Amino acid sequence: MFRNFKQEQLQQLFKADNEHKYDVQRVHEKLSIHSLRTTLRALSLDQIDGFLEYQIENNLYKCLFYESFFDSIIKNLESEKLDSIILWISDREKISPIYFAQFQAYFSLDYTDETTWKERFEEFIEVLPTEDKIQNLKYGREYISQSLKFHEITCSKSTCEYQIRATKRLNKINHELTKIVPQKNHTINKMQWKGTQKQLAELFIELKKKEWIESYDYETIKACFTNSKTINQVLKPATDTTAGQNNYDQVYTRQYEPKFYGIALNPKPN
Ligand SMILES: [Zn+2]
Repeated sequence: MFRNFKQEQLQQLFKADNEHKYDVQRVHEKLSIHSLRTTLRALSLDQIDGFLEYQIENNLYKCLFYESFFDSIIKNLESEKLDSIILWISDREKISPIYFAQFQAYFSLDYTDETTWKERFEEFIEVLPTEDKIQNLKYGREYISQSLKFHEITCSKSTCEYQIRATKRLNKINHELTKIVPQKNHTINKMQWKGTQKQLAELFIELKKKEWIESYDYETIKACFTNSKTINQVLKPATDTTAGQNNYDQVYTRQYEPKFYGIALNPKPN
C-alpha cells in the first residue's frame, strides 16, 4: 500500500526536511517506503526510540505510520531493530504485536472485495476475548478513519469508492461494538475487602455455620470482593477424620485469631 502513496501524502505521514536528526531522509529527492528503510538503516539501535517519539508527535496518521513498519520493504530490516520498533508501538498502544501484525489484513481499505472482507473480518473478531475484541475494534475504527482522511489528501470527490468502503466498514465495526455492550453492563465494581483473605474466608464459614447462607461459591466471592484471588484454596474444607466433620485448616491456623465467631445463629432460616 505504501508504494501507491503520493508525495503530498507521505509528507504528512513522515516528518522530513526539518533539519532534525530524526527526519526521514529523502531518496532521490523523494519520500517513499524506501526512504524510511534507508533512514532506519542509518539509525543505531539506541536511537530508535528517539526517532519514533519525534515522528509520532502530532502525527495525524499514527495508525498508518505504525503500519509502515509492517510493509514488506521494511520487513527485511535487521530483526533486532524491527523488534524494538514493534515493541515500542505495542507498548505505546497497549495492543499485542500479534494483533498489530494482522491489522492491515483486516482494516486496510485497499482490500476491495466486500464479501470476502466481511467473512474474514467476522472470523477474526468472533474468537477474540471480549477485552481484546473491544480494543481491536476501537483501533480498527481509528485505523479506517485515519485511512480515509489520508485518502482525502489527494481525492476531492465526495462519494468515491474508497469513502463508500470506509463507511460500510465503520458501520460494521460500530455494529460489532454495540453487540458487546450488554456484556459490559455485567461488569461489577468489586467490594473492597479491608481484611485479610483468611478473614474473608472465616466470614463465609461463619455465615454458613450459623445458617445465614446455604453455601458459597468461590467464583462469586472472587468476582465480588477484592483480596480474594485464592479464596478457593483458603476456604476449601478438609474433613477431619478423627472428628468426622469439616475443618478449615487453612483459615484456623494456630496463629489465627477469629473475628466473626460472635455471629448469632439464624433463628428462622428459610
Ligand atoms: Zn476518493
